[in-house]
Amino acid sequence: MKDGHERLKEVIKESDNIVFFGGAGVSTESGIPDFRSADGLYNMKYAYPPETILSHTFFLRHASEFYSFYRDKLLHPGAKPNKAHIALAGLERQGKLKAVVTQNVDGLHILAGSVNVIELHGSAYRNYCMLCGKSYSLDYIISSDDVPICPCGGTVKPDVVLFEEVLDQQLMDRAVQAIRKAEVLVVGGTSLNVYPAAGLIQHYKGNMLVLINKTETAYDRYANIVIRDSIGETLDKAAIMPGMHGWKQ
Ligand code: ZN
Repeated sequence: MKDGHERLKEVIKESDNIVFFGGAGVSTESGIPDFRSADGLYNMKYAYPPETILSHTFFLRHASEFYSFYRDKLLHPGAKPNKAHIALAGLERQGKLKAVVTQNVDGLHILAGSVNVIELHGSAYRNYCMLCGKSYSLDYIISSDDVPICPCGGTVKPDVVLFEEVLDQQLMDRAVQAIRKAEVLVVGGTSLNVYPAAGLIQHYKGNMLVLINKTETAYDRYANIVIRDSIGETLDKAAIMPGMHGWKQ
């Protein structure tokens, strides 16, 4: 019986219609902690739980406190793509991977060179004025002292989906389509407990569901391959195709 790593390597070798669906665990290997898992830290510093601070209502009422938490816990401008992001971008270039669907807002898949990236929760790299709609860069948010304000007087808001806000229906449709058409679905770095993750993978119709997560997930029993290991190391090993790492680096 071959182990999960070996089987995943074979599956990737054989398929040219792979879709990847990833959660916070993909980014933790780039040094971005899941803001939900930092309990001890934020409880000492912030008067509200993260789900409250990162809500639409809170943003409108207490933008300054929102931005303090957001800069502190969600923005990691020094973070770089890890082996998982790089392996996935490589598989897309080889025509094997059709889409990356991510719940992360850190933009690391795009930084790694992936093109068809469906960022379900938006991206910290995009920001816009709530009054006139003007776009602002991540640098503008980082370099603002308090609440970033547009010259028109409007508050600048990150293009990330806050609690109480609905997901972009067009993005959801694209994600559903990609997952529905996938031959192989690789899910990584998510326990699949949180909406919309659990609902999305129910659209998968294929017969090769691969779960890579350090801990057990709600879908382990439905998966064809379950790998409890680092997602970066796993994808890095599994995505190396013969001839790829030859003399011509
Ligand atoms: Zn404006």
